[in-house]
Amino acid sequence: ERFPTVQALATASEDEVLKLWEGLGYYSRARNLLEAARTIVREHGGRFPRSYEGLLTLKGVGPYTAAAIASFAYGLPHAVLDGNVFRVLARFCGVDLPIDSSRGKKHFQQLADAFLDPADPGAYNQTLMNFGATWCTPQNPRCRQCPLAPRCKAHQEGSVLQLPRKSKSAPKRQRHFHYLVFHDDGALWVGKRTDRDIWKHLHEFPLIESPRPLTRPALQALPAFRHILGGQPARFLQKAGPLRHVLSHQLLLLNFWEWEVQEGFVPKGPYRKVSVETAGGLAFPRPLQRFLQRKSW
Ligand code: SF4
Repeated sequence: ERFPTVQALATASEDEVLKLWEGLGYYSRARNLLEAARTIVREHGGRFPRSYEGLLTLKGVGPYTAAAIASFAYGLPHAVLDGNVFRVLARFCGVDLPIDSSRGKKHFQQLADAFLDPADPGAYNQTLMNFGATWCTPQNPRCRQCPLAPRCKAHQEGSVLQLPRKSKSAPKRQRHFHYLVFHDDGALWVGKRTDRDIWKHLHEFPLIESPRPLTRPALQALPAFRHILGGQPARFLQKAGPLRHVLSHQLLLLNFWEWEVQEGFVPKGPYRKVSVETAGGLAFPRPLQRFLQRKSW
C-alpha cells in the first residue's frame, strides 16, 4: 500500500523501509529490496529484468532466486536448487558429497541441469521442489509408494536417511551485548549501526560487546564504558537480561543496563538524544523494540 509501484519504492528512504519492515527480521532483505527497486528504475528502465543474467544484477537475487523467477515467470531453462531439490537428487542419484561444499554444490547443479525438462522448466522445478517437500521428506520419506523407488539409488542401498550429507556445521557464535540505556526526563540516547554486521542501519543504544558475561563492576571497569561516559555522572537504575536472541549463525545475549543521567549529559560516540516518542518512530531490531515497548519512562 505504501509503495504501489517500483518507482515509489525506489525513491523511498532506507529509514522508512526499515521502519515498515521492523519486527520481521532478516533486515538485509529490506535493504536488498530497496536497492533492487533502485537498480530496476536506474538500469532497467523501471521494468523487471526478464533474463537470468538480468535478474542476477538485482541485489539479494542469487542463483537460486534467479533460477526460480526465470523458470516460473518466463519459462527459461534454469534449474532450481533448494533444500528439497538437494535431498531428492542426493537420494535418487545416491550422491554423498556434502551439499554445503563447493564441490558438492557444483556437482548437484550439474545434476539438476541435466535432469531439467527444457520444454517446461517452471513446472519441472516446482514439481521437484514439491516432491521433496511432501513426499521425499527429511525424516519420513514415502519410499514404499514412491514411483521413483525402482530407480532410486539410496532406496536400493538403504541409505535414504543418511542423505543428503552436510559438512559438520559450525556451532553458533555467542555474543554478549551490553546496551547502555541512558535516559533523562523522557529522552534517550541512540545511534545507528553502521558496521558490516547484523542489524545494519537499525537503531540501538550505546553498545559494548564482550566475549563473556559481565558483572556491573566489570562492565564499569571497561575502558569502553569509561570512554562512553567520559567521567560524567550516571546513576545506575536496573538491569534487564540477559535475553537470548537466536539468529541463523549467532546466539545473542542481550543485557540492558539502565542509567539515569543529568540534563547536559552527552555520551561519547555517534549517538543522538531523542524523545521516547521519537524513538518509537525509529527502526530498532526486534528485541530492542520489545524492550522499548515494555518501558514507561
Ligand atoms: S524412493 Fe524414497 S528416497 Fe527415493 S526418491 Fe522416492 S521417496 Fe525419495
